[in-house]
Amino acid sequence: MTRESEGESMKEFDVAVIGAGAAGITAAEIAQANGARVVLIEQAAIGGECTWDGCVPSKALIRAARLRHDIGRAAEFGLRVDGVQVDFPAVMASVREAIATIARYEDAAHMEARGIEVRSGNARLGAGKAIRVNGEELHADRIIVCTGSAPSIPPIPGLNEVQYLTNENLFALDHLPNHLLVMGAGAIGLEMGQAFQRLGSQVTIIDVEKTLLPREDADIAECIHDMLQREGLRFHLGARVERVSSPAGAVALDAVVDGHSMTVHGDALLVATGRRPNMENLGLQAAGVEMGKHGIVVNRKLETTAEGIYAAGDITGLYPFTHVAAYQARIAADNATGNRARADYRVVPWVIFTDPEIAHVGLTEAEARARHGDDIHIVRLPYTAIDRAVIERQPRGCIKVIVGKKPVIGYALGGGEILGAHLVGPLAGELLHEFVLSMQSRTFSGRLAQAIHAYPTMSMGVQQAAGLLFPAGRATVDLREDLQTTD
Ligand SMILES: Cc1cc2nc3c(=O)[nH]c(=O)nc-3n(C[C@H](O)[C@H](O)[C@H](O)COP(=O)(O)OP(=O)(O)OC[C@H]3O[C@@H](n4cnc5c(N)ncnc54)[C@H](O)[C@@H]3O)c2cc1C
Repeated sequence: MTRESEGESMKEFDVAVIGAGAAGITAAEIAQANGARVVLIEQAAIGGECTWDGCVPSKALIRAARLRHDIGRAAEFGLRVDGVQVDFPAVMASVREAIATIARYEDAAHMEARGIEVRSGNARLGAGKAIRVNGEELHADRIIVCTGSAPSIPPIPGLNEVQYLTNENLFALDHLPNHLLVMGAGAIGLEMGQAFQRLGSQVTIIDVEKTLLPREDADIAECIHDMLQREGLRFHLGARVERVSSPAGAVALDAVVDGHSMTVHGDALLVATGRRPNMENLGLQAAGVEMGKHGIVVNRKLETTAEGIYAAGDITGLYPFTHVAAYQARIAADNATGNRARADYRVVPWVIFTDPEIAHVGLTEAEARARHGDDIHIVRLPYTAIDRAVIERQPRGCIKVIVGKKPVIGYALGGGEILGAHLVGPLAGELLHEFVLSMQSRTFSGRLAQAIHAYPTMSMGVQQAAGLLFPAGRATVDLREDLQTTD
């Protein structure tokens, strides 16, 4: 439908979605499925960060690195392999192949086949829900802003004179750095740091925080720190980088640790120091959309402060994950099309794809103690107790479950409500979801111990861990603390 506006024709939509990443694609699909006429506007490639520069390439690179690492362990299984050559350009080609395969199902043709109109270009809000894109003016009754985030680059003297890497150019690298310096020991820094170390770089990670991954449970963070160090990654924690320079084509970071100066040298630098929301040049302020330090301010309905304008995904600065972007987008799209939905962040899982993985849902031990004092039970099951982990020769890891003392339902095995589950170990991200479902449905912990799990699966570890809360479970779990771990 078009209408005349100041002599120009203006195309009318029920819902306009700005940004076609995880949030934007989902918002457009849900709004369209709800019967709305939808336009999806993207300035770059449909798919966004996750497909092009984030989850997909990083996990594909991690896969190659894990295979390289596993081949190095072949002798443990009685297999003799004569060396492994890393053909880095070929590794990167396989990463790009993964991107291309996924992107193929997200392109404009697919969106249009679903009845969603697509516009390519930079969108800017105008007065009265008008949107200007590529010289065209569109109008929508409702707008969903899904413009995502970009790497946050710290204002360190000298950094801008160095050709540093971020996730936006990392996957275009054509050679393996000899010594990769990584600024930032968060999820991206650790995932990529370990992958490059396994592919043959020496990796040194520097972070101003004194501990790795401060949002993770302290036991889990300590465990992965130890594992990564054993693989040869070097860490400088509590180190504030004060200057970056580029002596003779290399990279040098001058830092201060505990009042002492130090310099680390490498031949490439990855900056992984967090994200910033893409809020500039969108005309948000003029449209009455309030912006905070971390992103657009939204309520539980994903409404912004401007009537009829919603936001979803990384732009909200809440949980920077693809699955949360899609969750929020679904709620925003429902609300934008006359339905009523509210976000509930009580149970938000996430996974850090180091090898082994770290998986997180709910409260950490420190958070649970701060909220519930001593009114909690904590159990820890080492992976050595899981037969499948032993069979797979992957017995390094731990399942930690934090449970409230108050019974949710006072029968059968009883037990309290699960407040949090934290895992580090092979397939931790897969095992996590039994805890996610239990927490979401407020199932008491005894149910997990009671449900028959197939032997020998890694998932049986979930049952065993929950069983530790009960005398009968403790009686049957052999903790095998003495079992020697490999590598
Ligand atoms: C290296 C890395 C690894 C990651 N791994 C994981 C993981 O394993 N699991 C996980 O859950 N999350 C992961 N993430 C996070 C995940 O990628 C993001 O949370 C997710 O992509 C956010 O989706 P989004 O739709 O909010 O934003 P984006 O995907 O960033 O999409 C926003 C889109 O908006 C477009 N845009 C911006 N401004 C405009 C404008 N004015 N006009 C038109 N278009 C515009 C952009 O071009 C972009 O395509 C990772 C991130 C990185 C960087």
